[in-house]
Amino acid sequence: MKRILITGGAGFLGSHLCDRFIKEGYHVIAMDNLITGDIRNLEHLFPLSNFEFHHHDVSQFIHVAGELDYILHFASPASPIDYLKIPIQTLKVGSLGIHNCLGLARVKNARVLIASTSEVYGDPTVHPQPEEYWGNVNPVGPRGVYDEAKRFQEAMTMAYHTYHGLETRIVRIFNTYGPRMRLNDGRVLPAFIGQALRGEDLTIFGDGSQTRSFCYVDDLVEGIYRLLLSDYPSPVNIGNPVEITIKEFAEEIIKLTGTSQQVVYKPLPTDDPKQRQPNISKAKAILDWEPKVSRAEGLRITYDYFKNLPEEELYKAAY
Ligand code: NAD
Repeated sequence: MKRILITGGAGFLGSHLCDRFIKEGYHVIAMDNLITGDIRNLEHLFPLSNFEFHHHDVSQFIHVAGELDYILHFASPASPIDYLKIPIQTLKVGSLGIHNCLGLARVKNARVLIASTSEVYGDPTVHPQPEEYWGNVNPVGPRGVYDEAKRFQEAMTMAYHTYHGLETRIVRIFNTYGPRMRLNDGRVLPAFIGQALRGEDLTIFGDGSQTRSFCYVDDLVEGIYRLLLSDYPSPVNIGNPVEITIKEFAEEIIKLTGTSQQVVYKPLPTDDPKQRQPNISKAKAILDWEPKVSRAEGLRITYDYFKNLPEEELYKAAY
């Protein structure tokens, strides 16, 4: 049985990855300090003999007994609300955390895949963004703690690959959504659905002409699975290239939820990217991957998930 360590395993993406690797017959070790994650995302796996949970901060030395074939490093605050609140931990998990994972991988002779992000492109001047684009990041802006942590993480991973010959993979994830996102994580999709469920108006920051593209979580997980098993060490974008303006997106959510609320406008936060769209040619060519789930279908599943949460979840503050 192959053994895989998934850091950030109790988070939104990490927990879906745990499910996928359990389904593929792996022994899964999820490691998380629960700073933004939720143990309830993993509770259904606890009875399984091929699943372990380790409550641990991966910015501290990591010890795992036994062999490891793969390490997926997904631990990191991921939404702006989180990383602006805990900027130092964000920088630490992107630097000390990845260093610990890479060291462990050397000892265990394991392959490492890291969760990078479209944020390495910053506020891009090239659309859609190919992997060759170096980005437009303000290192000292508020989002710099996340963007630069992820850029450092990529550099460190590549250095272990070239200097130590470690097997590494880098996925640059674009906006992903689905069940187990937190309603209060500040990202636009749960924010709109939460507002609709609470009977509040939907808040658009700026004039709503900024665009986003949303990838359903099952599509992302499939892309990550294929990348891990590929032999490609350079970064690969995984995301859904179908773009929508935030204004149109708000209208879709209003229709989906049947809310009678309206849209209100507030000023755009600093460094908010105006456009974000992946170029997925590489994923298509190397992994034979492209997204399969339409936004209509993915939103319906996600809305059903949020609708069925206990009512108190609707009113929980982010911190
Ligand atoms: P999430 O907040 O739901 O999950 C992150 C998990 O990491 C949480 O369970 C948290 O408790 C854990 N964690 C954070 N710091 C830790 C530490 N020091 N030690 C141990 N555990 C720690 O976020 P997510 O959306 O699932 O994101 C997962 C990864 O994917 C992150 O690395 C993020 O940067 C990346 N990513 C996500 C998206 C997206 O659209 N969701 C986009 C780009 C990149």
